Amino acid sequence: MGKTKIRFFTAGIFFFFLNLSVHAQNKNEIVSSLDKKYPELESFYKYMHSHPELSLQEKETSATIAKRLRKSGYSVSENIGGYGVVGIMKNGEGPVVALRADMDALPVTEKTGLPYASKLIGKDKNGNDTGIMHACGHDIHCTVMLGSAGVLAENKDLWHGTLVMIAQPGEEGCLGAKAMIKDGLFTRFPRPNYILGLHVSPLFPSGSIAFKEGEAMAGSLSVFITVRGIGGHAAMPNLTKDPVVLSAEIIMALQTILSRELAPGIPSVVTVSSIHGGTAFNIIPDKVELSLSVRYPSPEVRDKILSAIKRICEGSAVAAGLPDALMPLVSYQMEKEYIPLYNNIELSRKAGTVFEKTFGKDKVFPAPFMTWAEDFAFYSHENPPIPTFFYFIGANDPLFLESIKGKAITELDPVSAAGRLTLHSPYFAPSPENTIKTGVAAMCAAVLELMKKK
Ligand SMILES: [Zn+2]
Ligand SMILES: [Zn+2]
Repeated sequence: MGKTKIRFFTAGIFFFFLNLSVHAQNKNEIVSSLDKKYPELESFYKYMHSHPELSLQEKETSATIAKRLRKSGYSVSENIGGYGVVGIMKNGEGPVVALRADMDALPVTEKTGLPYASKLIGKDKNGNDTGIMHACGHDIHCTVMLGSAGVLAENKDLWHGTLVMIAQPGEEGCLGAKAMIKDGLFTRFPRPNYILGLHVSPLFPSGSIAFKEGEAMAGSLSVFITVRGIGGHAAMPNLTKDPVVLSAEIIMALQTILSRELAPGIPSVVTVSSIHGGTAFNIIPDKVELSLSVRYPSPEVRDKILSAIKRICEGSAVAAGLPDALMPLVSYQMEKEYIPLYNNIELSRKAGTVFEKTFGKDKVFPAPFMTWAEDFAFYSHENPPIPTFFYFIGANDPLFLESIKGKAITELDPVSAAGRLTLHSPYFAPSPENTIKTGVAAMCAAVLELMKKK
């Protein structure tokens, strides 16, 4: 009965989730259960959205998720690598498939004006008060995981093997995945044959899916530069070595790394994101601090960019007449590097085919290589490697996206429009219903494809 029922199930959720009219006779018991499940999922989503917790502080969120997984019949372990949660459901012999959702929120003060907007205040890493918001949509990811966990638990006759639900802390900051792996995610629990994860994207309309096979998302490293000089009176620059002017030269020269040193088309970024120096209008300081965000598709490109940054800093300092003892200091923390994310080709194609069957080809888009980073990438970097697949679910209002088609970002209202197009914005506001429903439908369809009974 497996195959017929799977077809019926996926066809059923296709109609259901695209909000097409569903005739009563086409609804089987699974679709009805999803129908019934949504209000509960929405109330969980709104609760989580209005109760965000910062990275590595996800105490209440993880406890709530653990409780709900237990209620769905999973055997649950808590405090894995911090506040990580692992839920296991065994259903006979068969593949081990893991679903991962991240739980943490961001130090952003929400400005969406939604009735369930977060009003919480917390402490950022410097100890300052900050608003807290699920501005990266991790509340949607957890809701989709719990929804999928529930649907799959209620339909054990459709699959065999072991399901592993992973609720991960600390994605922002790149510590959570590594901490869970270090705490025995793949040794204390069944080792997955496949791991699936997803992220909302405001660039795609809700009700759609996007993915890229192979190299899919960038690696990311923060780089810190201390430009040193010889300080003194602003009126006598000839008696100083001005690090402000030198910093300006370095910043402009850094722009040539991508344009002149990397081959055209290599998706990379060198952004100088902060510059701090000086205390008063009449003093030339003795140092300026810069911080950079560097993004790249591979370790080889990363190394090329890093050596160019160092060469440009030192070369500019030599040109400015700085002695060896005052060369700029360039540093980075490799332990906080996000490695590039790679989607296993075979797994991506298998999932892509089932997404197209479930939603229709016009709802499944090719994603571009994304220059933002994800610590999901660490799950595949095992020995031997674990095939992983990370995809995007559209989260924006399709009518809104249609209305701004072809417009430049500067033509959009910075508050009501531009802020809705990017993650980490105080105006980020996914359309919950279609996004969550599509998310659960896609995840269940992919899992059933991997775990279906022969
Ligand atoms: Zn984020
Ligand atoms: Zn995120």
